[in-house]
Amino acid sequence: MQRLRWLLSATLLAAIMAPLANAQEPIKALIIDGQNNHAWAKTTPVLKQILEETKLFTVDVATAPAKDTTGFAPKFSDYKVVISNYNGADWPEATKNAFVEFVAKGGGFVSVHAADNSFPKWPEYNAMIGVGGWGGRTEKDGPYVRFKEGKIVKDESPGRGGSHGAQHPYLIETREKDHPIVKGLPEKWLHAQDELYDRLRGPAKNLVVLATAFADPKKGGSGENEPQLMVIDYEKGKVFHTTLGHSDAAMKCVGFRVTFARGCEFVATGKVTQKVPEDFPTADKVSVKP
Ligand code: ZN
Repeated sequence: MQRLRWLLSATLLAAIMAPLANAQEPIKALIIDGQNNHAWAKTTPVLKQILEETKLFTVDVATAPAKDTTGFAPKFSDYKVVISNYNGADWPEATKNAFVEFVAKGGGFVSVHAADNSFPKWPEYNAMIGVGGWGGRTEKDGPYVRFKEGKIVKDESPGRGGSHGAQHPYLIETREKDHPIVKGLPEKWLHAQDELYDRLRGPAKNLVVLATAFADPKKGGSGENEPQLMVIDYEKGKVFHTTLGHSDAAMKCVGFRVTFARGCEFVATGKVTQKVPEDFPTADKVSVKP
């Protein structure tokens, strides 16, 4: 009897464990927020939900204090990918150093919308995001990056870094169709109403522009094809930079959701396993999650 019981429980245990052994280990993600001139308390739960819906990630959130960031010290090294929904005061020196070390050693980083406004005077951060805006950024911080006459070009002309016109739906045009983050997506797709960031500038080293959008002067834009989705190599780490996602409403765009989740997977693992959903926007039709 004893032996039968042992056999039964061993069989049961094996049956329970088999699917677990096959399942992919979840990717540990950390979202940082707490300060932003955008509604971070509304958008962080959306970002978290997008990742959780893929069933690939487990997501924690580290919220920096509203004013004094002394003592803000998330353990970046516990994660495969850190996502910034933060645009605010400098972090303590030790936290900045730990973050640089995390990415340099191979960690993934994702900058969402106004996160590229943050830390204008932090050279390593600017190297990671490639280009940024506002915060006094000018030609001293690096060139503009645009798509002109069939290729990506750097423009050193003087001027402000960071601008946007009125919100509107706009066309995203893929420029690196074989990159895993955008592979299989339509070459052109209509992004739901959002701010279209233009005139970003920065070191722009080791930067690949995956997709651009035309910043229409009629809407207050620069008149250039401006980078919207980018990847940057920073030492052993990878960075995905999306300028999209001004609000929780803009984050309802299926195009935002898919590129964000794919970007997070890519910088964490170096590959993308997520399929393109059937409701992905097309060149003439916006698609938003209800
Ligand atoms: Zn915005």
